[in-house]
Amino acid sequence: MDSVRVRFAPSPTGALHIGGVRTALYNYLFAKKNNGTFILRIEDTDQARYVPGAETYIIESLRWFGILPTEGPEFGGEYGPYRQSERKDLYKKYVDRLLEDGNAYYAFDTAEELDVLRKNDPEFKYDGKSRMSLKNSLTLSNDETQKLLEKGDHVAVRLKIPVNESISFDDQIRGHVTFDSNELDDKVILKGDGMPTYHLANIVDDHLMKITHVIRGEEWLSSTPHHVLMYRFLGWEAPIFAHLPLILKPTGQGKLSKRDGAKFGFPVFPLSWDSDHEEDNFTGFREDGYLADGLLNFLALLGWSPGNDQEIISLEDMCKVFSLDKIVKSGARFDIDKALWFNQQYIIHADDLRLAYLIQDRAIEAGYHVSTEYLAEVCGLMKERVHKTHEIITNARFFFEAPHVYDDESIKKKYRQDQKHHLLAIANILKNVNEDGIETGIKDYIQGQGLKLGEYMPLIRIGVCGTMQGPDLMKTIHLITANEAGNRLEHAVSHFDKLTQ
Ligand code: GLU
Repeated sequence: MDSVRVRFAPSPTGALHIGGVRTALYNYLFAKKNNGTFILRIEDTDQARYVPGAETYIIESLRWFGILPTEGPEFGGEYGPYRQSERKDLYKKYVDRLLEDGNAYYAFDTAEELDVLRKNDPEFKYDGKSRMSLKNSLTLSNDETQKLLEKGDHVAVRLKIPVNESISFDDQIRGHVTFDSNELDDKVILKGDGMPTYHLANIVDDHLMKITHVIRGEEWLSSTPHHVLMYRFLGWEAPIFAHLPLILKPTGQGKLSKRDGAKFGFPVFPLSWDSDHEEDNFTGFREDGYLADGLLNFLALLGWSPGNDQEIISLEDMCKVFSLDKIVKSGARFDIDKALWFNQQYIIHADDLRLAYLIQDRAIEAGYHVSTEYLAEVCGLMKERVHKTHEIITNARFFFEAPHVYDDESIKKKYRQDQKHHLLAIANILKNVNEDGIETGIKDYIQGQGLKLGEYMPLIRIGVCGTMQGPDLMKTIHLITANEAGNRLEHAVSHFDKLTQ
């Protein structure tokens, strides 16, 4: 068999949806597993839907996940250019061939004319039944056709779908799939502006780029019989197809859409996206505190499994065990709680310094100018207690500043005025103790006075951190320094007092 070549072929029409990332990932994994090549092709023939910045966004996303192609725009390769708009001239001869062989025809109907037909009949299709009553080179004389071609207005080339045929192919995921040609429309393959449509450009490029496997979303399954026909008309061997199951909304009903992020309150795009249109601004998983490797692991299992119960699996290991036959047919429900669980697992196992670098900007934004080493220590203490990276800051402000507010409910329950002088004595010990003696200093005092640790420790914690929630108290005090903790406790005691008077 030829060496495996697969492509991820997004259209740069906006931010890359998380479903697109999964498609890219499966292509990447399939290529790696088979020592093949992973190619990025930008399908930008639809000028009306082109969004500047989208290509950069796509590449930036793949870079964030660490699933970069070896061929593509900006990556080079022998089969370029890898942007379809730069390949425009290349498609013409294949259109001519389809026209000459009678497998395609010119259509002159205007968009307005077709709109009227659709309005009158919502079921209207440009197909084997309707084509002979429409304005095209099959119904007009050669002279008329020639004249209209010279005029050049509204000329589209359509694929001529044969009637009464069943068109079948073997899909690696869906099995044997058959379409009745009478159900298919005569798709436009070349538009009036000379640009090919997706269908033509896609198959020509897959052929010229020697793509062996087409792994893409299920929404393209219904276009595949058209593609299969074009391969046949052009005398080319079709690649092997694998149509991935849909990613479903959290409710399990319907496809996860780009608007669902705002609706359900979680990201559906890898990176944040700023658009001129307010409703198209999205916060990305990256900016929302997700780690790329954890998210990738979560995405990989949306529709695929390594064949056992293993959930945590590295990209490297996925590359070793990935196979298309372990992809399921049914849609995979997008469960954000599961994504958070994966994120938490990856944060727990992440290197402290890596986490520190990731959240450094957030710390600065919050006005916390601490060293990376300090931040790394905070990460080490906090990482088991968060689901998103920036919660290391927002759930633990006491590492960066003295508390402004205290957990008053707990203070009311736990504090008695007669504890005041003991807490002040502990504050004093903290202010004077050597860093190695923090724990013994506090405990020796409490026990020496015949007091209960369980009654004092929570109050010391609230005094130092403002809250009952937090990592090991001694480690916390050690990090912020005993002197700082002592000052905080002293200050807090007057608040405790006022609150309980
Ligand atoms: N350009 C198509 C898209 O945006 C690619 C579909 C395919 O992979 O064939 O998804």
